[in-house]
Amino acid sequence: MTKMIKRLIIFFLFIYILLSGSMVCFAGTVSTDINGIDDTLYPGVKAKIQALQAQYPNWIFKVEYTDLDWNEVINGEHQGHGAGNSARNLVPANNASYAGLWICEICGEVYYDTGKWYCASIEALEYMIDVRNSVNKTDVFQFLELSSTEDYSNNETVKTKLREMAATTDYLDEDCINAIINAANTYDVNPYYLMAKIIQEQGYTTKTLIAGNGYKGQYIGVYNFFNFGASGNTEESVILAGLAYASSQGWTSKEISIEKGAALIAKNYIVKGQDTLYYQKFNVIGPNNLYQHQYQQNILGAQSEGTKLRKIYLQIDPDLSGNYVFTVPLYKNMPASACPRPSTTEKHKETTELLMGDVNQDNTVNIIDAVALINYLNGQNEVSENGILASKVTGRNDVSIVDAVCLINYLNGDAVFAVNSIKTGTLIQNTNVTLSKSPNGGIIYQASKDASIKILSLGDTLVNNNYWDLIVTSKGYYGYIPRGSWK
Ligand SMILES: [Zn+2]
Repeated sequence: MTKMIKRLIIFFLFIYILLSGSMVCFAGTVSTDINGIDDTLYPGVKAKIQALQAQYPNWIFKVEYTDLDWNEVINGEHQGHGAGNSARNLVPANNASYAGLWICEICGEVYYDTGKWYCASIEALEYMIDVRNSVNKTDVFQFLELSSTEDYSNNETVKTKLREMAATTDYLDEDCINAIINAANTYDVNPYYLMAKIIQEQGYTTKTLIAGNGYKGQYIGVYNFFNFGASGNTEESVILAGLAYASSQGWTSKEISIEKGAALIAKNYIVKGQDTLYYQKFNVIGPNNLYQHQYQQNILGAQSEGTKLRKIYLQIDPDLSGNYVFTVPLYKNMPASACPRPSTTEKHKETTELLMGDVNQDNTVNIIDAVALINYLNGQNEVSENGILASKVTGRNDVSIVDAVCLINYLNGDAVFAVNSIKTGTLIQNTNVTLSKSPNGGIIYQASKDASIKILSLGDTLVNNNYWDLIVTSKGYYGYIPRGSWK
């Protein structure tokens, strides 16, 4: 009997551990208690939501406590740099509105996708992901819940509005509208969202992927309204990939493409909890594929689709007085105030050659680019020859640093290491290596695998089961990495 009780206790303990363990994996809790948002933990969010509620009393707001750390989210989205990779976030290339600090500090002006995109910077991610920048009248529709269980079969008001919207394009006919209604009913998706999505993907005129004419004699008679699978590095490869995908799915009419595409959107995103445009772009819902499984790489995707969706709602509900439901995610350790819009005129500092000078036995180091060094150390101010580094400017772009230890200490706070012990190495991890401010964390930078590095000091204390070595990358970034990640 006692044995039985013991077994039962062990059994329930096991179940409890199992359940409490799995709770950690799930996305955070959702709350409608806006007034209860702790302003010290999530500064400024409550005020933003309440301002909208005051203006639109029928709107319903939920906040989702994701339990994710802000820096971890930004780092998770700042991945996929370098040739042959698929950057998780891109900004439009050669576009004055997204220049300067919008462009990735690692990749620089390297083209991605169709050659129309650059990799996005940390600053761009911080600005776009910070909900305080988008809980406003114009941008809030990226938080709109996209699921809907309403039956639209006999809803003539909705059909009429969809027809008006369809009339703004040259390709959406009555069959397409019926397909949208059917898909909305079958897959519990909002029909206006489907309409907005098609127009977002295709624009207002017929494109190759929905013309049914194939491409260069291939894939005639297939349609891909939501651009599924349409990715590649040239325009032609994008088109061919999109048509090949449609062909593989048997999307042989406009209606089939819309209904089956909507089914995929529902199945792939909405059913999985990614039921806002924000969550489809920034997957902070997980739990198994955080920062992956994202509908598009375009960092502006959620915002631009959200404003398109809002425009559609404005046409059917001019004062937006409907009972719209919005879900806004919250992160732990958010910055004290909203992250600023990245400057388009400033640039990330070019540090490539900055610290790659020769380290001499007598603790002097020749810095190749003195101008970059001086800018780096002093912002835009000049430093005198008798300044902190006792530098000697030997030519327009040359400077001899008398005291290399002094220089390196200056750049690294209190880190102390012997300059003469500097070795070179290579990062060997399969994924990019995170440089931390200290062995305890604080992400500085993502270094690419295979990148050459210099090892400045070898850690001698175990922190989180690792020895942490201080390194500098070939681009001049300093930080700590675990011992096993270089050779
Ligand atoms: Zn990058």
